[in-house]
Amino acid sequence: MYASGYWFHASKALPMTSISRSKWPLGVFTSLDAGLGLGFEVLAELNMPTIQLHAPRAERRSAALAAGLLEKLEQIDVEVTCVFAGFSGESYADIPTVERTVGLVPHATRSARVDELKEISDFAALMGVDSVGLHLGFVPHKPASAEYKEMIDVTRDVCDYCAVKRQAIHLETGQEPADVLETFLESVNRPNLYVNFDPANMILYGCGGPLEALKRVGRFVRSVHCKDAIWSDRPGETWGTEVPLGEGSLDVSEFLYVLNGIGYTGPLTIEREIPQEPERQLAEIGRAANLLNRLMKQMQL
Ligand code: MG
Repeated sequence: MYASGYWFHASKALPMTSISRSKWPLGVFTSLDAGLGLGFEVLAELNMPTIQLHAPRAERRSAALAAGLLEKLEQIDVEVTCVFAGFSGESYADIPTVERTVGLVPHATRSARVDELKEISDFAALMGVDSVGLHLGFVPHKPASAEYKEMIDVTRDVCDYCAVKRQAIHLETGQEPADVLETFLESVNRPNLYVNFDPANMILYGCGGPLEALKRVGRFVRSVHCKDAIWSDRPGETWGTEVPLGEGSLDVSEFLYVLNGIGYTGPLTIEREIPQEPERQLAEIGRAANLLNRLMKQMQL
């Protein structure tokens, strides 16, 4: 796999689809039947070496589906670097709705979602994928609170479940400031807990400058989303606006320099969350790939 230094990489037990690639292979966030990613069926048009895959719906997840997907991906020489969990009932309509509905934080759905996350980990293992990503939800800010301790226990539980299969959990950033996230990661204290760093989410949720955040949690970063956004005029209260990479508030060149500085070697996974406009989504992901290739060339990477 790409990111060297994973504690579990000594194992040869899993049928990994790993192919030797250079530093920072490009990738794209894809969805099979749900979620905000690029449709799986147009993947071949992009000629990307890697993808992250939004987990298919529960009723579709099976060994047969995993085998079929692997065969298709092998034909177009694409590696899945992370399977992303999503849960029914989640809504990203606005920031308060995210807080109420997303991830493992909401009480009413927590237990069922923990079970489903473990099923998604099983599906990822069937595909030979060694990391599972998710939005945990709004991490509580007060380490002394009961709610905080509950989230520590829940996160340890899913990390330990994944560790048995030599998988990592990657928490997507953005729903809390970097210092809160860093304290939470340190409190969970599990060697297979990492961060999927999404710089645009820091802007969209109004949670602080993305480059400062990346430096702060850099030692935990094992996957990234290349996504851009413009700040809200009321950061933290209302959404910012997601825009094509290079057209927003993110300094993409600096983003790459900081990634280089923290020693990141994993894939650059482009995410553009406009599944309702698939042709535009495909075109803008293609332009984002061109931008990243150009910047990497300038950096002589
Ligand atoms: Mg993202």
